[in-house]
Order: sequence, then C-alpha cells, then structure tokens
Amino acid sequence: MDKQNTPPVCDYEGSDYQSSFWDKGGREYEDRTEAIALKRLLPKSGHLLLELGAGAGRNAPRYPGFDRIVLLDYSRTQLEQAQRRLGKSDKYIYVAADAYRLPFANGLFDAATMIRTLHHMSDAPKALKQARNVLGSGGTFILEFANKLNLKAILRYMLRRQKWSPFTLEPVEFVKLNFDFHPKAVRNWLGELDFTVERTLTLSHFRVGLLKRIVPTGILVFLDSLFQWTGALWQLSPSVFVKAMLTGREGQLPPVPTNFVEFFKCPNCGHSPLKDKKDYLECPGCKKKWGVKDGIYDFREAMKN
Ligand SMILES: [Zn+2]
Repeated sequence: MDKQNTPPVCDYEGSDYQSSFWDKGGREYEDRTEAIALKRLLPKSGHLLLELGAGAGRNAPRYPGFDRIVLLDYSRTQLEQAQRRLGKSDKYIYVAADAYRLPFANGLFDAATMIRTLHHMSDAPKALKQARNVLGSGGTFILEFANKLNLKAILRYMLRRQKWSPFTLEPVEFVKLNFDFHPKAVRNWLGELDFTVERTLTLSHFRVGLLKRIVPTGILVFLDSLFQWTGALWQLSPSVFVKAMLTGREGQLPPVPTNFVEFFKCPNCGHSPLKDKKDYLECPGCKKKWGVKDGIYDFREAMKN
C-alpha cells in the first residue's frame, strides 16, 4: 500500500475553514439542517463511532448516544481545533490519517459518518470501501454527498449556462478536488459494497443567497426539515444524506478494546495490533513508526526514525 497508489487528498492543513465557512460564512441554515438530519438517522446509542473527515469537530457533539467517538481528518490543525472545542478525554480519539488508508482493525465500528467529505474524493468507491471495511456486521453508515442532480444545475444546464450534464452518472469536478455525485451512482457503489440504503433525506432545499438573506433562518430550517423526507421519493437538492446498513456479514461485533491502541492497524502493511511506545506506535510487521503527539495519532507519514 504505497502512498503513491492512493488518490490525492484535499488537505485543510492550516485552514480557517471552521471560522470562515461555518462561524462567519452565513452557514447557520446548512449547519442546523444537518443537525436535524443526523438526529433522524443516527442510532440512539452505540459503542464506537468513526467520523471520517471530522474537521474541527463541528458534528461530534451530535453523537451523544455513543460511548466513544473517533475523529479522523487528514489535517492535524483541524484536529487541534477539534481538541480545543471538545477537550482531551477518553470519549474522543483524534486521528490524523488518509481516508484511503484507514489505520483501524476491520469490523471495529458500529457506526461511521462521512459528512461533506466524499465531496473531496476523486476515487469515491475506494473511500467508501475503506469505510465498509472498518464497520462491523449490522453497522450503520451515514453518508452525506453533494448532489450533481440538483435543481440549480438542471436549470443552468437547460439554459446552456453549464456544460456538464447533471443527468449522467459520473462525478463532476467543478473546482479542483471538489466533486458532486449522482444519487444513483452513490446508491450503486453502496450496493456493490453490501450496504442496504435504509433512508434518504434531502437537505439545503433553500440554499439560495437571496432567500437566506430575507427569510429568517428558523423558518428556512423548519421548512427544510419538512422537505427532508421527500428524499425518499426524489433527490433534487444540493445535499443528500443516506443511512446505509451493512448486511451480509456473519457474527457479532468484537468487544471494544479498553485500551484504544488496540484499535489500530498499520496503514502501510495492515498489521494489527501495533506496539505502544508512548511517543509513537510501532508496527511489528514492517517496523514503521507512527507518531503520537499531544493526544493526536498521526498515520499520514511514518516517522523518519
Ligand atoms: Zn506495518
């Protein structure tokens, strides 16, 4: 598993994404509609949840029923922000890693979420397969994706203001490393990975600058919460949430290890468990060392001895 073989990563290292996009960027409407969707889709309780692309931990407080939450992001500085927001405790585990090379034992998690993250994946099926591998039998996967088949894109295409067709199944990269997907393509990928889609919600029906300026946010959020259910029938909004269950696997979930170092596998050679050497984890298989600093496990690059 050489790094060269994995697709490029959209890296938020050093980014003020949380503050510029969410806190000051007029995204209160989107944020609140996502909170509603998560409440509708998440299991009420569980042991261990993995958030893929957790960023600065905006969604982590929305998983209250879970004993432990692993926040994974490629950017260490995003995780540092998450750590400041959520604190250092056994409840939250911070992991810097490439979503294409997850450093976790197979079948470990009973739930995983991936919100506004597939959006940056040039090889979406590969990233989804990684999520599938770390979920246990009967595990729940909550996936958000940006929808290329949205009303605005359809209108623009019909008015010939946009070259790409919203109706075809291939992803569209509208800005470098920003992809929108066709709902049917996502359903096909999930189906090929033995996921069963249980529920689909559509979000951000009113993501229109003018509406957001003149209509109170609370009203737009309320209307969107009603419209979310239409996702079961059609998906024409810019953001879609699906709840998919992993089927076709035998056996029970393994017990959650009390020492979470046992969670990990080597992203280079796949060996598990790793040896805990305090400042780093050592792989008995390939001898690579993975850094541990200030409560953040770093699996992006092995340490240079
Ligand atoms: Zn190894």
